[in-house]
Amino acid sequence: MTSASEPEPGSIAAEHRGSCLCGAVRFTVTGDLPAPDACHCSQCRKQSGHFFASTDVPKSALAIEGEAQVTWFQSSEKVRRGFCAVCGSTLFWDPLFRDWIGVAMGAFDGATGTRLHVHIHTAAKGDYYLIADGVEQFETVPPPAS
Ligand SMILES: [Zn+2]
Ligand SMILES: [Zn+2]
Repeated sequence: MTSASEPEPGSIAAEHRGSCLCGAVRFTVTGDLPAPDACHCSQCRKQSGHFFASTDVPKSALAIEGEAQVTWFQSSEKVRRGFCAVCGSTLFWDPLFRDWIGVAMGAFDGATGTRLHVHIHTAAKGDYYLIADGVEQFETVPPPAS
């Protein structure tokens, strides 16, 4: 007998671990990772150094170890961005009044079991790269689902 919380044999474990570059901050996301988006807005580009790919997970699914080492920078009225105070790794995009949080794809260790599904804010992308992976693009954000 296996309990319902254990992954099927051979499947990707429904627990995803990640960390910053120096290891002071570690985290675990429980459950599958929703398909990430890549944001090309100027804030994401400046903070990440290129563009920012993240997966939006329920805040209740994210456990952070070493949170004392996370510096939160409030980049707008409604959003704060979390990075490691020691090594500077970009880690979290936290919309303060929502129940989900964006977790940087680059911070995950090992296989993520997911795949990028959309590029957003492409109107603000840098001029030094092409987006040519065939993934859907939006100049700002996708229209709300009707
Ligand atoms: Zn670090
Ligand atoms: Zn952005």
